[in-house]
Amino acid sequence: MKQKIVLFGYPLSHSISPKFQQAALDHFALDISYSGQPTAPDSLESAIEMLRSEDYLGANVTIPHKESVVELLDDLDTWAKTVGAVNTIVKDGTRLLGHNTDGYGLLKSLEDKAGMDLHGIKVLILGSGGAARAAAFALAKRKTDTLIIANRTIDRAKSLADAMENRVNTVKSISLTDVHKVSKDTDLIINATSIGMQHGPDEGTSPLDSLHINSESLVFDMVYTPSETPLMVEAKNAGAKVLGGLWMLIFQGAAAFEMWTSKPAPINVMYEAGLRALAERDASNET
Ligand code: NAP
Repeated sequence: MKQKIVLFGYPLSHSISPKFQQAALDHFALDISYSGQPTAPDSLESAIEMLRSEDYLGANVTIPHKESVVELLDDLDTWAKTVGAVNTIVKDGTRLLGHNTDGYGLLKSLEDKAGMDLHGIKVLILGSGGAARAAAFALAKRKTDTLIIANRTIDRAKSLADAMENRVNTVKSISLTDVHKVSKDTDLIINATSIGMQHGPDEGTSPLDSLHINSESLVFDMVYTPSETPLMVEAKNAGAKVLGGLWMLIFQGAAAFEMWTSKPAPINVMYEAGLRALAERDASNET
């Protein structure tokens, strides 16, 4: 029987996970399909129940369900519990277990692909949603010294800062409108908002301009469509090092792939498929 893995999100048009996950499954000639299933918030509960049938191996979960899915699952691993958000569901019989591989994806891409030592550094995180939470907890695990959390809705930034209080040396929450006041004095800037995302309401916009980016810092944009985001352009203009969100996406997906299949994720196959999918996106946006 062909088994299925699904991706729940709404809308889902932005996601390239089906492309690189299917490439990885096909690499091992596994009789498993991976497909996106656009799921509005009011149908999430029935979509999750469907996973209990034996046709399904598991699922990924993306915006806007990463936090709301938690209460629909049977158990969470320690990391998903800590972050309070789930991006991967793995089955144990008919039991549904929630995991969060976003923090792992972030650390792997910063350390392996940008060669960054995160210990003792000062980081500015833009955003306070699920991805920003995963980033903050992952950085604390690496003993990052200072976290400045900036968000449009200041209460969410404060609440994330409170959660980080005893995990890092110094933590501050600020409004996203004040970000230019602190951005130059940081080693790493992480955009975990959806600003700049293709087809999003803030397409073409950067949360910071080059004047407020230090040439010595690394700018990491979690947004991966387009492949070069407005923030990445500003960071390059400032002479800073730049990393886009594709590697994080691949690494978080690779960790999920290994849990579903017990096979080593073919990282390069996944990355190449991801690059092709992004190139198609970029081209379709230009025409
Ligand atoms: P989320 O929980 O919905 O959070 C969205 C964040 O973006 C919130 O902080 C929100 O601020 C902020 N935001 C949205 N629109 C904004 C605007 N117009 N102006 C200022 N701030 C705005 O989403 P998420 O899961 O954290 O994802 C955030 C981004 O990271 C998305 O672009 C997602 O695609 C990307 N991501 C990438 C990866 C990867 O592997 N590369 C993994 C996870 C997420 P408020 O709190 O004020 O609403």
